[in-house]
Amino acid sequence: MIEESQKKRVVVVGAGWAGLGATYHLAKQGYDVTLLEAGPYPGGLVAGWKTGAGKSVEAGIHGFWYPYRNIFSLVNELGINPFTTWTRSSQYSPAGLEVTSPIFQDLPRLPAPLGTFLYTQFQRLPIADRLSALPLLYAVADFDNSDEAWRRYDFVTARELFKDFGVSARLYREAFEPMLLVGLFAPGEQCSAAATLGMLYFFILAHQPDFDVVWCRGTVGEKIFRPWVERIEKAGARVLPKHRVTDLIVGSNEHVKGVVCGDEVFDADAVVFAVGITGMQKIVSTSASLQSHEEFRNLSNLGAIDVLATRLWFDSKIDIPRPSNACFGFDATTGWTFFDLNALHDEYHHEPATVIEADFYHANQFVSMSDEEIIPKVQHYLETCVPGFREAKVIDSSVIRLPKAVTHFAPGSYRHMLPAKTSFENVFMSGDWIVNRHGSWSQEKAYVTGLEAANLVVSYLGEGTPTVILPVEEDEMHIQVARSLTQTVRNIGKSILPNFWLP
Ligand SMILES: Cc1cc2nc3c(=O)[nH]c(=O)nc-3n(C[C@H](O)[C@H](O)[C@H](O)COP(=O)(O)OP(=O)(O)OC[C@H]3O[C@@H](n4cnc5c(N)ncnc54)[C@H](O)[C@@H]3O)c2cc1C
Repeated sequence: MIEESQKKRVVVVGAGWAGLGATYHLAKQGYDVTLLEAGPYPGGLVAGWKTGAGKSVEAGIHGFWYPYRNIFSLVNELGINPFTTWTRSSQYSPAGLEVTSPIFQDLPRLPAPLGTFLYTQFQRLPIADRLSALPLLYAVADFDNSDEAWRRYDFVTARELFKDFGVSARLYREAFEPMLLVGLFAPGEQCSAAATLGMLYFFILAHQPDFDVVWCRGTVGEKIFRPWVERIEKAGARVLPKHRVTDLIVGSNEHVKGVVCGDEVFDADAVVFAVGITGMQKIVSTSASLQSHEEFRNLSNLGAIDVLATRLWFDSKIDIPRPSNACFGFDATTGWTFFDLNALHDEYHHEPATVIEADFYHANQFVSMSDEEIIPKVQHYLETCVPGFREAKVIDSSVIRLPKAVTHFAPGSYRHMLPAKTSFENVFMSGDWIVNRHGSWSQEKAYVTGLEAANLVVSYLGEGTPTVILPVEEDEMHIQVARSLTQTVRNIGKSILPNFWLP
């Protein structure tokens, strides 16, 4: 048993999936861990809370896809049961219903990505447009998530990628760009082709069941973070909300000794940053010690995207065909989703009227609008998809604005994103924008990078054992063969051709 005063001290900054993941593992290993969070609640972008009137709201609804193996394993370890069963979803445009998705794991398994293309029910998209995606499979096989592959594809926009591989204009507009708006939060001309291939492969293309999704049966804050934080505190960590970090105290040899938070200094043997891009840029702007390191100065080249989360309470029950729905074509550069909370959240199962969450991604032009302007707009969009909303009245609503909240995987941004190890020997990075090789995205990636940072701390400070991180399911055999073929062709090309063309 290590004496309390001899325990090595770790300060984790930011209490989203990444920070909580790092804190939990390090506390279990016997470290003296302090988690500093600027906001009033843990959870980061996934935080949930109650309004003054006692109604649950959250910073956007969050889905948990089939390949989120590490999060599902955490939930099992915690012994909680936060999720719905696998749900089916629909896609709408101003013309009405466009696509419905089955539960892919229930259907006979076909070699990926055949099942995704054959089982998805497109209402209008002609087969010729769908087939125009075939040449893109070359790029899917060629992009293996390595550093080299990121450097090859990151300077190209997603739009150029789809254009170069002959994807039809209609397939791009009605399938790929809508996926980018909800998956990478930006239109194709603003997304890196590397991020596009990585994201599409993880969520949709790698294995037939990957696009199956569950949702929390309430806010993630209530269903997962509350019991998790209790467990983290039981393991001995201190979770301190309303603590905004502004600087580091650096000793000799680039060794960080402490973390500055307003007037307080928290002594540290190691530090894990788990804040988003905008939060990190703010810390660098107030920290001379971080500014003296090029990698942190370069973070000012990165960007983040505005998101808007709305929740509407209607006066009557509306029949909504599917609980989760994605929508495109309403605004040129904004995607949105809506969710039937009566179907998803326990709290609203028996509610006599309808409760809807509608979230808007790349919502730059919406965040400055007043609630009075936003709510009728949302209702109008909803009634375009499901006519029943026309007769209903909004009796209560919540609008949460999240400016510069989510990571922008812009073309050319990869070279400025940070790996977990920094030029400070005892400072480690985590979060959904950190460069790693796991292959996951969004919440699962954030959690995995938190665990990876914890393992680096364990290895640096030399106490405890690393946690086991579940890898993504391996590539199917034919994908492995296709990858090695593209690699061989590339190597032959390299050996006989001059290194002349732009990647
Ligand atoms: C509307 C919306 C919908 C989404 N939908 C999904 C989805 O369906 N599925 C999915 O997997 N992902 C989804 N995401 C993405 C997901 O939320 C993120 O990938 C994930 O939450 C990132 O976690 P993180 O720990 O990296 O960072 P964050 O959650 O951003 O946490 C960082 C924390 O650091 C804190 N912080 C910042 N600065 C400081 C400071 N100076 N001092 C102390 N603390 C600080 C912040 O307050 C925050 O709590 C969605 C995001 C949004 C906004």
